[in-house]
Amino acid sequence: MVQEYGLFIGGKWKKFEAKRFETRNPATGEVLATFPLATGDELNGAVRAAKGAFDKWRKMPPPRRGELLFEAARIFRRKKEDLGRIVTSEMGKVIAEGRGDVQEVIDFYEYAAGEGRRMFGETVPSELPNKMCLTVRMPVGPVGLITPWNFPMAIPGWKSGAALIAGCPFVLKPSSLTPLCAAKFVDVLDEAGFPPGVVNMVTGNGSVVGDGLVAHPDIRAISFTGGVETGKHVYESAAKKMIKVGLELGGKNPILALDDADMDLLMDGVMFGAFGTAGQRCTAASRLIVHQKIYEQVTDALVERAEKLHVGNPIEEDVDMGPVASLDQEKKVLEYIDIGKKEGDKLLTGGKKLKGGAYDKGFFIAPTVFAVDRKSRLAQEEIFGPVLSVLKAKNYEDAVAIANSVKYGLSSSIYTNDLRRAFRAMHDLEAGITYVNAPTIGAEVQLPFGGIKETGPTDTREAGPTALEEFTYWKTIYVDYSGRLQRAQIDTEKLSGG
Ligand code: NDP
Repeated sequence: MVQEYGLFIGGKWKKFEAKRFETRNPATGEVLATFPLATGDELNGAVRAAKGAFDKWRKMPPPRRGELLFEAARIFRRKKEDLGRIVTSEMGKVIAEGRGDVQEVIDFYEYAAGEGRRMFGETVPSELPNKMCLTVRMPVGPVGLITPWNFPMAIPGWKSGAALIAGCPFVLKPSSLTPLCAAKFVDVLDEAGFPPGVVNMVTGNGSVVGDGLVAHPDIRAISFTGGVETGKHVYESAAKKMIKVGLELGGKNPILALDDADMDLLMDGVMFGAFGTAGQRCTAASRLIVHQKIYEQVTDALVERAEKLHVGNPIEEDVDMGPVASLDQEKKVLEYIDIGKKEGDKLLTGGKKLKGGAYDKGFFIAPTVFAVDRKSRLAQEEIFGPVLSVLKAKNYEDAVAIANSVKYGLSSSIYTNDLRRAFRAMHDLEAGITYVNAPTIGAEVQLPFGGIKETGPTDTREAGPTALEEFTYWKTIYVDYSGRLQRAQIDTEKLSGG
């Protein structure tokens, strides 16, 4: 019996007689659950609940809010295996990564909980005697969290952990491909005991519920992760209300392989970076820029390694790569493979849908490697699938120029044993993140995460101490304990005259 979910509003699962949609396992086609296609009415109800909870939630001391986050982290830890299996079943990443998705929530909730005892402001000297000046962080109000399918627990975890500790109730609008993960996520928060209305979740079409959430007059900040075109639309709509908006929109992340790179280390990193999560990470290594001296050696090794990857049902422990997440994803990736072939890029391995037996039930694509020209679309556009584009560089400077020639700037990496070139790359690569001798993936929650260029505006960063920026504003406070009227800028002469 397929479970029929409702919407989580005001601390309760509410049934709605609305139209419903199914969520399916991309490896097997099995229907996992159904969810309501909510409309504006249900969305209004969720925002009302969040707004109603704001005053009480903002007044709860942040360390007390932190205790609830710690409790949620404990429950996530206890349920990690079950939740990890749900991530894998609904999204299609291999089970080790499914567990990792849940671990990211645990890590960030623990980190954010600790932030409840910090959340530092500043005390600043006054120009007047017997007067004190300070800054405090204030929660912006009820917020909207719009999340994609590729990290179906981790991304709701990063966004909600920061919103909650900041004092902001939220309405989560998860991807329509992974609502079950979001529902299980919300169940944990419910069990942890967050007050009614602090946590809300509404499912439905992005163009209805997502759009409506951004435009809603009572929503005071939006945190969005997804595609560039949707992100630009969200940015425009949020700008009309002059609210805070955090956007994380993907990348075309390069690994630079210099001529002195440790070859085994490089190949391990490239395989994980390019084909982990079947290439469906915003930080995936989708370009490998190789020094001409080692180009043949690297491409030969790549083909050999890619052809050894075991592609199959990701719930099985020995599988290296699962399916892509949906039929739309499959179509998009296969279209890019066709584009590469038509533009004259050289297919080195893969380049096809896998067929026969269990493959016919899911969206399986062979790990694909193309040797591409630096101007080709495969070198420039985000594919978001198991397709790696390899480019040849003349030297370090040329490799950096190629790396920086795309419209994205999220993650980047360099493999070299030359300290001087490694340090230069840390400054030369146009990206929010640079790894040295590690692939482009593997962010840790205690550091800021985000990009530049069309990856998103640089004024917000998820995770790390910067996570609070998305959901708080600075209030400046002046306390005058002189007992008389003191006038800044005007009383200066009198003061200096004694
Ligand atoms: P979208 O940008 O369409 O979706 C991301 C989220 O936004 C989903 O929850 C979606 O809801 C919602 N949404 C859709 N339309 C609107 C709207 N008008 N206003 C507000 N919210 C909206 O990404 P897709 O899932 O379709 O993936 C498309 C491409 O985006 C991928 O192929 C990839 O290139 C990129 N992507 C990047 C990610 C990243 O990590 N940066 C993650 C996922 C995708 P719904 O699911 O109901 O449409």
